Amino acid sequence: MASQLRAPKGVSEYFPPRSDAFLAVRNSLARAATNAGFGYIELPVFEDTALYVRGVGESTDVVSKEMYTFTDRGDRSLTLRPEGTAGVVRSVIEHSLDRAGLPVKLWYTGPFFRAERPQQGRYRQFYQLGVEAIGVYDPALDAEVIAIADEGFKRLGLTGYQILINSLGDAKTRANYRETLSEFLSRLDLDEPTRERAKINPLRVLDDKRPQMQELLADAPLIGDSMTPAAAQYHAEMLGYLRELGIEWVDQPRLVRGLDYYTSTTFEFVHGGLGAQSALGGGGRYDGLMADLGGQDLSGIGFGLGLDRTLLACEAEGIELGRASTCDVFLIPLGLAAKSRLVGLAAQLRSVGVRTDLAYGDRAIKAAMRGADRSGARLAVVLGDRDLENATAELKDLTSGAQATVDWTDLISTIQEKLA
Ligand code: AMP
Repeated sequence: MASQLRAPKGVSEYFPPRSDAFLAVRNSLARAATNAGFGYIELPVFEDTALYVRGVGESTDVVSKEMYTFTDRGDRSLTLRPEGTAGVVRSVIEHSLDRAGLPVKLWYTGPFFRAERPQQGRYRQFYQLGVEAIGVYDPALDAEVIAIADEGFKRLGLTGYQILINSLGDAKTRANYRETLSEFLSRLDLDEPTRERAKINPLRVLDDKRPQMQELLADAPLIGDSMTPAAAQYHAEMLGYLRELGIEWVDQPRLVRGLDYYTSTTFEFVHGGLGAQSALGGGGRYDGLMADLGGQDLSGIGFGLGLDRTLLACEAEGIELGRASTCDVFLIPLGLAAKSRLVGLAAQLRSVGVRTDLAYGDRAIKAAMRGADRSGARLAVVLGDRDLENATAELKDLTSGAQATVDWTDLISTIQEKLA
């Protein structure tokens, strides 16, 4: 016997009925983005490796340890996308999307890939939905981006999440802070890889989640203390807009994000029901990325939200998102002539928006009725030879069990009335 094939280790998969809830999560977040004027962008799932090395940063775990990189038949180094922002920015530059009006507002969704150790909520192929608003430096826009995620979560009925917010300030702030922080780190007893990372980007060290490191870092200076007046004012204005939007947040002065390009506003959404992988998503402002990737020196703000974890969070809160049924009407033919009549009826019902399925495989009525029950349909139509002669059909209400003979010509309107 052939050996059993399995999906590669650590990938997330969705199939019915749970896939319906997955779509509901994606739709809710997508709706929040499109309601705020973001246009859809569909991007390749692999890019030149150089894009991520330049755009995400060599010192990040994502680039240094987690990329799926391969050489194609033309000897080019390609990488399965580990995140979305670098690809969006590459596309904006390549297609001059920033030459029309600013900001360029785009949203994306799809699979992403990181070679991580798989566990609950952490996969090697996972799904994100993200937005990017490029070309305008305005604290109200930062607040809008945060509000989109908040709105998408709220629409799903989620309540158990928090919005953590920090500011990494402007270039001057970070230069001040880099110096203060490097000085602090140089006094600690760090292992070799951490010391190396501190040399490339000392802020990255703050993101080290190991408990012994968190202990060492407890007294680290805060970026807030190095903030320039202009950066402090930007942040205060941003928080003012959040207040205006009725959004509650938690100040998190130690929040730095995992990728190198963030500046100014940074935020993360965390959920209490997710165990160790508590982050639903996060994002922030990135001010050097467009220029670093060869474009205009424009500032951007965006987020990436994990759809897998958002679904897990909904499940942890007992929120039911999926539809219990795969169709509303189930058609059961008794014989070949009835079958070809019902194939036509299925198409007609579908064209007026009624979810319809048919008992394929010429099954006996008992087996076909079981199929109808399994589908969760509210109505079943049974068509036999007698009905064909009389131009009628048997319409059965699967909830009440009531059955009636209906004229063929009235069938579609009767079904529509019953489902209304
Ligand atoms: P990041 O780009 O690392 O900030 O990721 C943004 C969000 O994507 C995270 O908060 C998660 O919800 C999700 N995410 C990132 N990596 C993974 C993964 N390996 N498995 C599942 N979800 C992930």
